Amino acid sequence: MEKLLLGSPVASYLDKKSLIIFNKYEKDNKKKPTLAAITVGQDPSSMLYVRRKQEKAKELNANFYWKKLDQDSTLEDVKDIIDELKTLEGLILQLPVPSHLDKDKLIDFIPPNIDVDGLHTNNLGSMFNDKQQVIPATARAIIEIFNYYKIDFTGKDVAILGRSRLVTAPLALLLSTQKYSATVTVLHSKSMNIYDTIKRSDIVVCAIGKPFFLNQSHFKKDSIVIDVGISKKDNKSYGDIDPTNTKEILYARSPYPGGVGPVTVSALYSNLSELIS
Ligand code: NAP
Repeated sequence: MEKLLLGSPVASYLDKKSLIIFNKYEKDNKKKPTLAAITVGQDPSSMLYVRRKQEKAKELNANFYWKKLDQDSTLEDVKDIIDELKTLEGLILQLPVPSHLDKDKLIDFIPPNIDVDGLHTNNLGSMFNDKQQVIPATARAIIEIFNYYKIDFTGKDVAILGRSRLVTAPLALLLSTQKYSATVTVLHSKSMNIYDTIKRSDIVVCAIGKPFFLNQSHFKKDSIVIDVGISKKDNKSYGDIDPTNTKEILYARSPYPGGVGPVTVSALYSNLSELIS
């Protein structure tokens, strides 16, 4: 029988720890920590994600400041706003930004010590040593789910579908470190034999954003699957995993919805709490 790795208890666990740190911060500094988000344009998913971050700030006794920029903003416009917000405790540039903007350049304008998303080149680079403070929120959320449900990676074959800077590349790097000691295979759109790799993997993390890309027939018996991807088809939202009959095959599954999503917002605030501690 498949165990469901739900996100909400993990999120509550992280939130409790963040709340303690934010309350202490307020007491010591006579002000609440502020997380600022910059959006460029009106991407509907981005608007939804930022609203969720805004709501979470209220729960955690933090301030939230949302700067909305027009779709046709220039690199200089965004850079000026980043400069204005540099004195706050945390800053995120909500991705995606319009294609005329160089997102990597913009991310690197954010000072690493307030880069709550952990996407600045210096912060990503620090993942190669033990000094990293911030792990990109979705990668952290996935790790926190495994920690909470006491799932050990040591020596496990882990297949990660996706190689993005935002989610999967940092996760692959982390799981390969001595701390986790998994054997990681990264699969992407040019990979051959994707299904063979998945079939022999103990753990599968799928983050490609294709509706029901995998189903129970693809997995090894008693494997563990994390559904990260989100996509829309015919006005309905889908994860990457078709959950039909997975309970007959899997040992555990983190579902969509209700899995990684709620933990990602909390992981972002965990990053903020670590940056201000
Ligand atoms: P992304 O930058 O678009 O990356 C998608 C990755 O999937 C790419 O590496 C791509 O390979 C790979 N891919 C696409 N089609 C494939 C195929 N047929 N076989 C194997 N690999 C394939 O997206 P992202 O930012 O990493 O996000 C991934 C998904 O997670 C999205 O659906 C996003 O909405 C979701 N997400 C969820 C959360 C959450 O909290 N639940 C948070 C963040 C993201 P190439 O590199 O070769 O193009």
